[in-house]
This record gives sequence, structure tokens and C-alpha cells, in this order.
Amino acid sequence: MSNPRQASRPCPLCRKPARPDFTPFCSKACKDRDLLQWLGGGYAVPGPPADEPDADYD
Ligand SMILES: [Zn+2]
Repeated sequence: MSNPRQASRPCPLCRKPARPDFTPFCSKACKDRDLLQWLGGGYAVPGPPADEPDADYD
């Protein structure tokens, strides 16, 4: 049941055939691009602002 055409999935970023060296991406550029998206805020989940407790008057 080997299907060479399904051996490698296309690059998720640009849909070019993925290269084994950069799987699942097609190139270092796409791999870096994906990484930068993760690091650079593309996928960043903004955390809640620092929740400062209200001054407790008593
Ligand atoms: Zn690509």
C-alpha cells in the first residue's frame, strides 16, 4: 500500500512539495516563517492584563 505521491505532504504555507530536510515545509524560508509566526505574535495569545488587586480599604 505504498503511495509515493502521498509520501510527502505539501508545504502548509505555500503548498509546494515538502522537502524531507524541512518537513513539513518546502524550504528553510517557510520553516523559519512558521517559527517566526509563533514567536512573533502571529499565534500569540494575549494574556490577561496583570490583575492588580483593588486597594482594600479597611
Ligand atoms: Zn513553503
